[in-house]
Amino acid sequence: MKHTRLWLTAGFALLLSLGFFLTRSDAQPNTVKQIVPGVWFREGDIQHAGHCNNVIIEMKDHLIIVDANFPSGARLVLEDAKKVSSKPVKYVFDTHHHGDHAYGNPVWTKQGAITLGYVGVAEELKRYEPKRWQETAKTRKDVGELNLDQPEPPKQTFSKSPYLMNDGSRRVEFHFLGWAHTRGDGFVYLPKEKVLCSGDAAANGPFNYTADGNIGNWPKVMDKALKLDIEHVLPGHGGPGGKEILEGQRAFMTELHKAVEAAIRDGKKVDDVVKMDGTKLVSTSIRLPDNVHNWVGPSLPAQVRDAYQEIAQHKPVGDLPH
Ligand SMILES: [Zn+2]
Ligand SMILES: [Zn+2]
Repeated sequence: MKHTRLWLTAGFALLLSLGFFLTRSDAQPNTVKQIVPGVWFREGDIQHAGHCNNVIIEMKDHLIIVDANFPSGARLVLEDAKKVSSKPVKYVFDTHHHGDHAYGNPVWTKQGAITLGYVGVAEELKRYEPKRWQETAKTRKDVGELNLDQPEPPKQTFSKSPYLMNDGSRRVEFHFLGWAHTRGDGFVYLPKEKVLCSGDAAANGPFNYTADGNIGNWPKVMDKALKLDIEHVLPGHGGPGGKEILEGQRAFMTELHKAVEAAIRDGKKVDDVVKMDGTKLVSTSIRLPDNVHNWVGPSLPAQVRDAYQEIAQHKPVGDLPH
């Protein structure tokens, strides 16, 4: 009896770890998959190259690419785009200002494409650059070899959401739904095909970077996205899926905020909830419920610290000096 129970426990643990393993290993970096006719999802290799995902959208006589990626990622996307369509890339939409989504802009404009973003993307670049570009250029060959002092902002911006494109073959909507991952978060929505490209406002996996974000507002942005009629969600990192990605992303931010708020209410100091090793954050005492485990990973201590600062200082963490 005792042995049976022990075996059951071990078996259950094995299943759990297998489940964990499966969710983390179903990544298919550098593959291109058709989502609906004329819309392809390219999964970026975040682990080895730091690349984001991209979406290729075919219009009547041109292509729209979602996200510029890093320069090396931009070149891979360009090659793959040529394999699925002979049409030229006319627009590249930066979902936000981060290097893995926008530093490839000069590669695309050199090809004759027009880079496009919500006005908040250009404003975030002004806020954080050229410092980040110059730091990245020291460690990333693809950025360094461009020999530029600063990133290239999107050539075209819009401030009224949604911004529309419709050439008769397809209607494409560019939305700003509020501050979640950055102040510039842009979504691409195809109403007929029910496809939503979310950038990093929704990731499928433990990829959330919160330092430029607004953790308290994040779930509200997901609420707005979920009001759209959606079948396919194509996230900035992690594999494609459906609305469950937006719901899970919303639940993760809600649970993170709730758990940290409870710790603050219990009188915990920031050093009680996150542990440092030198200048590196190594662990956190905060535990989140199982339903959000897909979003929990090595960044949790940093996310907890960011949530702590945001709640304690009554300001979006991205508004605090960093
Ligand atoms: Zn990213
Ligand atoms: Zn990002």
